[in-house]
Amino acid sequence: MEQGSIYSIAVIGLGASGGFVSILLSKNPYMKVVGFDIQPPFSTLLPTGGGRCNISYDENDLREFVKNYPRGEKFLLSVFSIAGKTKIIELFNDLGIKTYVQSDKRIFPKTNSSKMTVEKLSSHLKSDNFIFKREKVIKISKDDGKYVLKTDKQIYKFDVVIVATGGHSNGYELAKQMGHKIIPLKPSLCALDIKEKNFYKLSGLTFNNVEITTKLQRKNIKLTGDILFAHKFITGPCIFKLSSVTAYEEITNENPLKFNLKLINLSKEEIEADIKNNSKKSIKKFFSKYVPESYITEILHLYKTEGTKQIAQMTKNEKELLINSLISLNLNATGRIKNSEIVTAGGVDLDEINSKTMESKLHKGLYFIGEVLNIDGYTGGFNLQNCWSGAFVCSKHLFN
Ligand SMILES: Cc1cc2nc3c(=O)[nH]c(=O)nc-3n(C[C@H](O)[C@H](O)[C@H](O)COP(=O)(O)OP(=O)(O)OC[C@H]3O[C@@H](n4cnc5c(N)ncnc54)[C@H](O)[C@@H]3O)c2cc1C
Repeated sequence: MEQGSIYSIAVIGLGASGGFVSILLSKNPYMKVVGFDIQPPFSTLLPTGGGRCNISYDENDLREFVKNYPRGEKFLLSVFSIAGKTKIIELFNDLGIKTYVQSDKRIFPKTNSSKMTVEKLSSHLKSDNFIFKREKVIKISKDDGKYVLKTDKQIYKFDVVIVATGGHSNGYELAKQMGHKIIPLKPSLCALDIKEKNFYKLSGLTFNNVEITTKLQRKNIKLTGDILFAHKFITGPCIFKLSSVTAYEEITNENPLKFNLKLINLSKEEIEADIKNNSKKSIKKFFSKYVPESYITEILHLYKTEGTKQIAQMTKNEKELLINSLISLNLNATGRIKNSEIVTAGGVDLDEINSKTMESKLHKGLYFIGEVLNIDGYTGGFNLQNCWSGAFVCSKHLFN
């Protein structure tokens, strides 16, 4: 940035990343920021974290942190080394949003309220250097060194354009207009349908710290987290992870995704030893100490096993089936539940973006931040962290 010059900056999209970069930039008197959106700033934050806004995740080891992004891991290592979780929490504090770390390491605002977080963040946009235009940007082009934006209402010219349009938007079209490559878009973090419909009878049942294993292109994948059986699908953070790592796989009735669930943290040998010490107990009573009774009832029904029978009377086959139902349950995902996705995999190709500045390598003065990029993470605050950090890195570069 040349000393003394006033820069006109357009921010397209005022969700997490666009709203945040607008706050940071409008603190500089040399930046005149115009934010475009079809809804009020930060509206997209309202449903996040179940209405509590899961801002980030408390992991200090950057290499561990970036493992939570099936797409964008290497790029974010560079971004987060400039502004990672600690820097962002510091900035939130400065903006008057105090945070706390929950026992599962997820970070939330102390108010536990997305609405209050949105109000607080929006209050920082009431600056002389920021103008909000409730307009949809439909075209970007370049003319004589300036960026020309056509909206549904007017035409504008800017020195700098920041595209922060998130997933599910025409932001990809805008990127294409500027010659950027878009990695195919796929739903990620979705609930899954399974072939074994009997399990839907367990609707409402949650299992914590489950281990899911599957094979992907001959590679063994192991994921951990909670799962929830719902009325017509299976969901929860660990299922979201599974849907995320398999976002580019075809999953259909004909070509199901086979996966294995270890519902409890015990080995076969440990359960067998326990069985030996409890031979007089009924099957149902014995197995119900590990998992909710409704699960065992359904498993007994499925395997046509009499639950009142004593453990000692169990056949070898019954024993095998019951133990496996706890530590090696095979299920088949037959599809992703439509419109259940939380984020979009794919987007602007990271090879065309400078991870130290978020600037396009094709056009000086054009920036991309947030989910419009080919970056997506697991649930736990990782997707918002990408937005905050990208916004900071971009603003820092523009200040220099
Ligand atoms: C239900 C739900 C819960 C979630 N919870 C969490 C969570 O707790 N933690 C977490 O880390 N992540 C969460 N996510 C994901 C997270 O919200 C997104 O990754 C994040 O909001 C993406 O930010 P962004 O700035 O890239 O885009 P967005 O926040 O989606 O903002 C994009 C904005 O651009 C505007 N826009 C688009 N195109 C145009 C255009 N052409 N002209 C003008 N404006 C335009 C849109 O109206 C929108 O306001 C959740 C997502 C969902 C759906």
